[in-house]
Amino acid sequence: MVMVCITKTCMQTCKQCKKQFNIDAQDQVFYKKMNVPEPTLCPDCRRQRRFAFRNERALYSRPCDLCKKTVVSFYSVSYPGKVYCQDCWWSDAWDSKTYGRVYDPSKSFFEQFHELFLSVPQLALINTKSENAAFTAHSASNKNCYLLISAGFNEDCYYGFQIVESRDVMDSTFARQSEIGYELVDCDKMYNSRYCFKSEGCRDSAFLYDCHNCDNCFMSCNLRNKRYVYNNQQLTKEEYEKELSAYHISSFKTAETLKKDFAIMLKNDAVHRFSDQIKCEQSTGDHLLNCKNCVQCFDVRNAEDCKYIVVSPVAIFDCYDTNYAIQGELFCDVLSNIGAAMDQAFCQYSWASSRMQYCSYVMNSEDCFGCASAKKAKYCILNKQYTREEYEKLRGRIIEDMEARNEYGEFFLAALSPFGYNETIANDEWPLTREEANTRGWKWSDEARGVRGKETKQWSDMPDDTAQTDESVCNEMFECRACRKNYKIIKQEFLFYKRHGVALPRECFDCRHMARMRMRNPRKLWHRQCACSLYGHGHHADNQQCSNKFETTYAPERPEKVFCAECHLKETA
Ligand SMILES: [Zn+2]
Ligand SMILES: [Zn+2]
Ligand SMILES: [Zn+2]
Ligand SMILES: [Zn+2]
Ligand SMILES: [Zn+2]
Repeated sequence: MVMVCITKTCMQTCKQCKKQFNIDAQDQVFYKKMNVPEPTLCPDCRRQRRFAFRNERALYSRPCDLCKKTVVSFYSVSYPGKVYCQDCWWSDAWDSKTYGRVYDPSKSFFEQFHELFLSVPQLALINTKSENAAFTAHSASNKNCYLLISAGFNEDCYYGFQIVESRDVMDSTFARQSEIGYELVDCDKMYNSRYCFKSEGCRDSAFLYDCHNCDNCFMSCNLRNKRYVYNNQQLTKEEYEKELSAYHISSFKTAETLKKDFAIMLKNDAVHRFSDQIKCEQSTGDHLLNCKNCVQCFDVRNAEDCKYIVVSPVAIFDCYDTNYAIQGELFCDVLSNIGAAMDQAFCQYSWASSRMQYCSYVMNSEDCFGCASAKKAKYCILNKQYTREEYEKLRGRIIEDMEARNEYGEFFLAALSPFGYNETIANDEWPLTREEANTRGWKWSDEARGVRGKETKQWSDMPDDTAQTDESVCNEMFECRACRKNYKIIKQEFLFYKRHGVALPRECFDCRHMARMRMRNPRKLWHRQCACSLYGHGHHADNQQCSNKFETTYAPERPEKVFCAECHLKETA
C-alpha cells in the first residue's frame, strides 16, 4: 500500500514495535535526495537493527582460515564461514571477485546476499596500527593496551570504551586526552583523577561532577576554576589535606561508600544541564560539539544537517541513521565508516567508499551494490564485475525486484547478522532473552563468554585494602560479584592500582563497562521545562519560574535538578 501524506508530517507505524513515528517534510526531502524509500521502522528499531551487526566485546581466539595463525576475533570457531586475520584479509593473497555470483531474479535479494556473505572471508577483528594491543577491538593506533573498545591513539590504557589520545587511563568511558585516570566517564583533559563524570581539565581530584579546570577537589559538583573544595565547601589547603587524610581510597569498602555518596550528590545537590552541547546551533540530543541543525544526535562532533546519529567523533554532513562513522556525507542507514565517503545507503563497514548500497566490508571502492568483503571494487554487484552500462541496468532491475518484495529501503535484516544477538551492542541497549530473540528469528550465541566456577580465591579472603596485597593476586582467578564470570587481574593493571592507590575491582570488565554506560543517560529525549526556580535559586526575581523549555535525556520522573543552559551557567559561573 502506498502511503500518501496530506500534511507535511506523515505519521507512520513502526513495522517492528508498532509505535508511531514521524516522517516530516525535511525527512522527505532527504529520502528523495538519496533516492530511497521512506523507512518502515521507527528510529530506535532502525538503530537496533544496525547494532545487531556490531559485536564489540564478545572476542574469541580462533585460527585464521588462510595462514592458520591463532588470532583474536569477533567470530568464534563455531562461525560457519571463513575468517581471515587482519594481515591476510587486507592482503592480495585472495580475490573477492572469485566469490562473485550471478543475480537470480527468482530469489530474494537478501537471501542471495546472505549466501554470498557466508561464502566470503570475514575480517577477524578491526584493530590496526597497534603494538602490543591484541585484545583491542574497533580500534587503531594503540600501544601497550588491553581490552579497549572503539579507541585510538592511546598508550598503557586498559578496559575502556571510546578512549582517545590518553595515557595510563583505566576503566573509563568516553575519555579524551587524559593521563592517569580511573573511572572517568565523559571526561576531557584530566590528570591524575578518578571517579569523575562530565568534567574537564581537572587534576589531582576525585568524585567530581561537571567540574572544569579544578585541582585538588573532592566529592563536589558544578565547580569552575576551584582548588581545595571538599563536599562543595571551600577549605584552606591545610583543612583540605586534613579531610582527605581520613580516607583510604585504596580500600574497597571506602571506595564503595564514596561511590554511594557520589550518587546521592548527583541526585540531590548537582545542577544538571539539560544537554551537553558546546558550540551547537539548532540541535537536539546529547554530548554534541560543533553541531548545526542536528536532530536526535548523541556523541557527535562537527556535524551539520544530520538526524539520528549515534557516535560520530570527527565530521559528518547530511546523514541519517548513521553510527560509528568517522566521516561521511549523504549516508542513510549506515554502520561504521572511516575515511572520506559520499552517498552510502544500507551499508556496514564499507570504509572510504562512495555511491554504495547494500555492501558489507567493501573498502576503498565506488559504485557497488550488494557486495561483501571486497577492496578497490567498482561496478560490482554480488561481487561480480560489470561494465558501467551493465552495472546501472542490473542495479535498476534488482531495486525494482526488491521493491516488489518490500526489501528495498530496509537495512540488512538482523536475522542475517553473523553474530548472536547477545554478542552485539543491540543487546546492551535493548536486552532480550534468548526466547524473545529467537521469536524474532534472531540468532543467539551459546558460546561461553569466559569461564565460571573456576575461581581460586574468594574476595572475602582478600584484604580490603590494595595496600595490603601483592603481585601474587595476578595468579588468582576471581568470580565477578555481578555475573559470576571468572576474571583475572593482569599485572599492568595491578601495578596501576598499587601505584595510584585504587581498590581492586570485584566485577569483570563487561559488568564494569555496563555500569559506566548506565551512568550516562539513555539516548532518548523528553520535553521538559527548566526546573531552576523550583529550587529557590536566587537569580530569578520573586521566584519566577524559568520559562525555558527543552528536549533532554533526563526523563521527567527523574529526581535530578535539570536546568536550561542559561540557568546552568548562572549556577556554575
Ligand atoms: Zn520501532
Ligand atoms: Zn592470516
Ligand atoms: Zn561480570
Ligand atoms: Zn532556566
Ligand atoms: Zn534559573
